[in-house]
Amino acid sequence: MAQVTCSFCGRNKKDVDLMVSGISAHICNVCIDQAYQILGEEEKTKKPTKNSKFKLKKPKELTEYLNQYVIGQFDAKKVLTVAVYNHYKRLGQKQNDEEEIKIEKSNIIMVGETGTGKTYLAKTLARTLEVPFCIADATVLTEAGYVGEDVESILTRLLQAADYNVEAAEKGIVYIDEIDKIARKSDNPSITRDVSGEGVQQALLKLLEGTVVNVPPQGGRKHPDQKMIAVNTENILFICGGAFDGITRHIAKRLNTQPLGFNKPTEQKTVDKENLLQYVTAQDLKGFGLIPELIGRLPVVTHLDPLDRATLKSILTEPKNALVKQYQKLMQMEGVKLVFEESGIDYIVDRAVEYNLGARGLRSICEAIITDAMYELPSDDTITELTIDEKYAAEQFDKSKFKKLQVA
Ligand code: ADP
Repeated sequence: MAQVTCSFCGRNKKDVDLMVSGISAHICNVCIDQAYQILGEEEKTKKPTKNSKFKLKKPKELTEYLNQYVIGQFDAKKVLTVAVYNHYKRLGQKQNDEEEIKIEKSNIIMVGETGTGKTYLAKTLARTLEVPFCIADATVLTEAGYVGEDVESILTRLLQAADYNVEAAEKGIVYIDEIDKIARKSDNPSITRDVSGEGVQQALLKLLEGTVVNVPPQGGRKHPDQKMIAVNTENILFICGGAFDGITRHIAKRLNTQPLGFNKPTEQKTVDKENLLQYVTAQDLKGFGLIPELIGRLPVVTHLDPLDRATLKSILTEPKNALVKQYQKLMQMEGVKLVFEESGIDYIVDRAVEYNLGARGLRSICEAIITDAMYELPSDDTITELTIDEKYAAEQFDKSKFKKLQVA
């Protein structure tokens, strides 16, 4: 009988672990392995073309998706979804068509108190996006040459999000958190160099506008021996967010000093003093310490509303992954039915308001109330239902560190 050899590498059947035979050819396990790896590599390079066939989600569809998770904040949702939609449309434009009107990007700046959902909004949006997305923190950035990170490190994250596929990263979206922390520290720049304020703003300008930057693939500080990846930021959409603590002073001042128009006083809209942020404009951002050039590159300004009691209650119970639902799921896995009574919910919300903790505090308060149960119940088969009413919530909360903090 003729010797069976692999038709690809010529190895003899007895030299390999497995030989698969076809009609007139054979293949050994080593070649199967190699072929499989080649297939994998091919798939990777094909990725962008697969993505480019995605269905374009309209702003309203995107908002519907966001509504499942994020309560309220309709202004910000509208602005963000329109920006993302236009971003896609811009990406779809033919590159070399001279005739075509070139759509320019509209980077966004979101102003809202901490804990009102800026990052959450951006993160939730990212889940439905078909382009790479990353969140960067402006607080760590400093001017080149000082302790901290170069602004280019922002793009390192985007590259990582895109699996180092530069072409994909160049179409991505970046959320820069805490942009207010790089505001100019004083009106007189000559006193000391403002390396983490104005210096960073200057460095960000080019990035936001669109330029080719050399990005250190592993992030951190650039150094001469490092291999850099060139990334063009022209098509990258930047969304910035910040709390801008104290900006309401600037807004109030501007609203008060606005010259009177021709409107009769009765027609003038009354100012909602509780939520001055809704009137925020580029002028206020300048007053806060952002340089005009940077503001110019962030043409869309939007705000997030402060969270009132009713909103906090909705956040606790309504979204798809509301905290209440998360705890119920956790308990259900333990075979325990967790019931939140209205009075229990109200108690949690009241404490969040009392301690001024916003939405972020809801989780800590829930943890303080439910941790004991989550500790005990897994080892106790006799309990199948737990009700969180005001009495239970108050008892647990009084034992927690919150109460201790208050006493101290
Ligand atoms: P920040 O505005 O400081 O970036 P975050 O986005 O980090 O605030 O919000 C903190 C947490 O509060 C989020 O993880 C989310 O669970 C919750 N949260 C805040 N605002 C909302 C909202 N409008 N709807 C639902 N959850 C919210």
